[in-house]
Amino acid sequence: MPQTFRLARQILCLLTLFVACLAAGPSHALSPVSIGREDIAIDLEPAVEIFRDRGRNFQVSTVPGADGIVRRIEVESTAATPSGDWAVFALSNNSDEQIDRIVVAPHFRLASSGFLWPDLGSQRIAAITPSEGFALDRQESPEADVFLVTLDPGAIITFVAELSSDRLPEIRLWEPNAYKDTVNAFTLYRGIVLGIAGLLAVFLTILFVVKGSPMFPATAALAWAVLAYICIDFDFWQKLVPIVPGQERIWRAGTEVALAFTLVVFLYAYLNLNRWHGILSAFTALWLVGLGALGVLAAFDPPMAAGIARMSMTATAGFGLLLILYLSAMRYDRAIMLIPTWLLIVVWIAAGWLTVTGRIDNDIIQPALGGGLVLIVLLIGFTVMQHAFAGGSFAGGLLSDMERRSLALAGTGDAIWDWDVARDRIFAGCDTEGLDGMPVAAMNGPARDWLPILHPDDRDRFKITLDTILEHRRGRIAQDFRVRDDNGHYHWMSLQARPVLGSNGEVVRCVGTLKDVTERKKAEERLLHDALHDQLTGLPNRELFIDRLDSISCLAATRPDVRPTLFMVDIDRFKQVNDEFGIATGDTILLTVGRRLKRVLKPQDSLARLSSDQFGVILMSESDVAAVGAFAETLRDAVRAPITFANQDIILTASIGLTGWTEGAGADEVLREAELAMYQAKRLGGDRIEPFRSAYKTHSSGRVELESDLRRAFGRNELSLAFQPIIKLSTGEIAGFEALMRWNHAKRGFVSPAEFIPLAESTGLIVQLGQFALDEAARRLADWQRLPGQSKLFCSVNISSRQLIRQDLLNDVRQILKRYHLVPETLKLELTESLVMDNPERSAKLLERLKEMGVGLSLDDFGTGYSSLAYLMRFPFDTLKIDQSFLRGEQVPQRSILVHSIVTMAHELGLAVVAEGVDNDTDAAQLRKLNCEYAQSFMYGHPLTAEEARRRLQERGGRRGSA
Ligand code: C2E
Ligand code: MG
Ligand code: MG
Repeated sequence: MPQTFRLARQILCLLTLFVACLAAGPSHALSPVSIGREDIAIDLEPAVEIFRDRGRNFQVSTVPGADGIVRRIEVESTAATPSGDWAVFALSNNSDEQIDRIVVAPHFRLASSGFLWPDLGSQRIAAITPSEGFALDRQESPEADVFLVTLDPGAIITFVAELSSDRLPEIRLWEPNAYKDTVNAFTLYRGIVLGIAGLLAVFLTILFVVKGSPMFPATAALAWAVLAYICIDFDFWQKLVPIVPGQERIWRAGTEVALAFTLVVFLYAYLNLNRWHGILSAFTALWLVGLGALGVLAAFDPPMAAGIARMSMTATAGFGLLLILYLSAMRYDRAIMLIPTWLLIVVWIAAGWLTVTGRIDNDIIQPALGGGLVLIVLLIGFTVMQHAFAGGSFAGGLLSDMERRSLALAGTGDAIWDWDVARDRIFAGCDTEGLDGMPVAAMNGPARDWLPILHPDDRDRFKITLDTILEHRRGRIAQDFRVRDDNGHYHWMSLQARPVLGSNGEVVRCVGTLKDVTERKKAEERLLHDALHDQLTGLPNRELFIDRLDSISCLAATRPDVRPTLFMVDIDRFKQVNDEFGIATGDTILLTVGRRLKRVLKPQDSLARLSSDQFGVILMSESDVAAVGAFAETLRDAVRAPITFANQDIILTASIGLTGWTEGAGADEVLREAELAMYQAKRLGGDRIEPFRSAYKTHSSGRVELESDLRRAFGRNELSLAFQPIIKLSTGEIAGFEALMRWNHAKRGFVSPAEFIPLAESTGLIVQLGQFALDEAARRLADWQRLPGQSKLFCSVNISSRQLIRQDLLNDVRQILKRYHLVPETLKLELTESLVMDNPERSAKLLERLKEMGVGLSLDDFGTGYSSLAYLMRFPFDTLKIDQSFLRGEQVPQRSILVHSIVTMAHELGLAVVAEGVDNDTDAAQLRKLNCEYAQSFMYGHPLTAEEARRRLQERGGRRGSA
């Protein structure tokens, strides 16, 4: 009961104090403050007059005493270094009894202490001297200057207080008991808050020891900093450590710096900022170093250190708020959880600011702020603890080996496979994700239940593996086998297990993991297949083909009945198909050809795609020469049959090279032979079957060598032109020549243009070659035209595709015409149909320009392609050369009909016709009848050297002249 009463009294005291504070106005005329018996606490500040810089001796007039006399008193400072500031106030006792009061001037007051250059507290009053009697008795107090005043009834006394600091933030007159009660009331509150803060600090520190995360030491540090701050603020520290009056400020500034420091550390550690940006880490480190320096500064200039620390705290709070909001928007859960706490921090700092700047000024705010600080730490503690325990019991890092293993297993997603040998029970983790859709019932039971669900090919292996483990009592099971799922599909499962031995040394169980590895297996199979097969056709590729060829060669070496034949099938002009119809169509056609070839094979035979349009066949099913020949024909026919694509019939032909088995030849060599034979077939015009002859070897080997030789051929003058006469059929006279390139190779002799022209085309040398041909032919022609009666003589020059693509052809022709003063019509350019069709748009434009220049344009080798003449007439040709294949060799009735229609049609379209390869008189007669203008063939004349040609012209001219 007395306790309740005391508490009530204390609260009453506080309230009165509060009201007194509010009521006190700022009046400063020195007049005595009258004291009644009931006055518990009086704010003396309005009644105090401050005198500054008055030196060691201070003189002042007293207020009129009870007798109305004003006296003058002089007070001398007792301090070693007097401040020279003095405060004067007067008290009067109007009652009729003696009154005891105490004058209290607290050392520190937060309210109005200033934000940037704060007053951090100090001793305020050194001594108080009354106008009557002795100096007042100083009472013991760590937090305030307390002096006892005794006023006799009716006394009016003036007091002179010697100030020991330049500010006197508060001075009050208290009823001694009331003061004690107030102090005690605060002490209770402070005790509670301090207790909580201390506990929190200790608790968070322990948490840090248990949990390793940097978030905990950071929080603990903050808690300790708060505890330190409150200890100072609540004057607890002063009770523990004897503090010289001036040092208080250092401690206070020090704790403020510590608060600022730990706040930054906490924000950084809690939000894991090092994870986000290196720059942020560097910035934080810099900031912390700055705050560390501030700690040192606090010892020398506490107000400045405290001011900077406060700014840092404000900045941290503001920046932290922005950061937390941003990270929360990014759904960072730590940031979201910190929002309430941080808002409290911001509010606290705002309240602190309002207080120190004097906007809030009462006695409760200071302890309230202290309590608020503890509340913040409490909230932070909760937030942090949530993280500490949110991770579940495993997150802390203290795991038993067993737990670690089981977690690891759960992490792999594999199913557990546990075979209890004694009871013959297999446990295959039924609820494990790894076994979705598997016949889990059959998998959980005796080992024999597994057999029916295993792939028949894997059953024995499975059985033997288990038996072996039991028998050997060591080793591991590492097996892949197929298990049928509920839908009947097989899954590849990988079992990895190890036997566990019992005390008797027997295997008591086998434990391990089971994993579905179907995807991996499929990928492996696919890789293996891709490594050995062609992607497009799915046929074996070159590597596999050579491998097969190798083993067959080995077999053939020992068995006389094994006589393989190797075919190489290369599609003619396949590039053209690609260019004309597009790569996709080209692929479809290749696929078709591949299938057709496959169809003519027997199971013993192999087919492979060796390169883009090249197929290889190993024929094992036939060894008889005639049968092999027939087979080759079947291959040829298989390619030849029209392929219908987008309502169009595409007819392809193939060049086929073949070679038999030769003793001691390796796979590469045999393949090379077939290739050579195939090239020979190509050289001979394609659509041919060519068996390998050993002569090809020396002939064709060293394509690379030939290439470099061709490059040098210019310098060595090995290239020349031959001129084949073109005869006017009606008169039998030479109407012109076709210029044909000749290469007289130093070692090989004459190399056929059919061999080196494609080579030159593929290497780009053809441009030079073509220029040379044009120039040389024109030069010769100009020379011949000067012979009598030869002014109309013409000369044809073959143009290749590369030349056609180049822009310079027009220029070259123009210059040559100019250089040799040729009549443009007498220079003719020969282009083949396929060449024009390679790029019809461009060709049309180019030919148009050439035509404008006046040069002749001949369509060479007509009939070998598959374009219609009507189509070709979009190009401005003036001459058509019927290909030799129509006229050479045996007479076939259809052929003459064809020739007939070509010539008539050409004439209708206004073209002159040259018949190439006429080799008999009957044809010649027929052509003459058809009014075919010209013929060009060995029958009329082989290609001649320039000199021979000149001589021939002269002879004729001479003959004609003499005739
Ligand atoms: P082409 O333009 O069709 O030339 C006619 C080819 O037929 C020549 O072969 C010629 O010797 C041959 N020939 C002429 N009459 C007969 C005959 O009655 N029977 C037989 N069997 N053949 C006959 P050559 O000189 O071997 O030239 C082959 C091809 O090389 C030429 O065919 C032409 O396409 C190309 N060519 C030759 N010289 C050049 C050139 O300077 N530049 C370019 N780009 N290609 C050239
Ligand atoms: Mg020609
Ligand atoms: Mg020709």
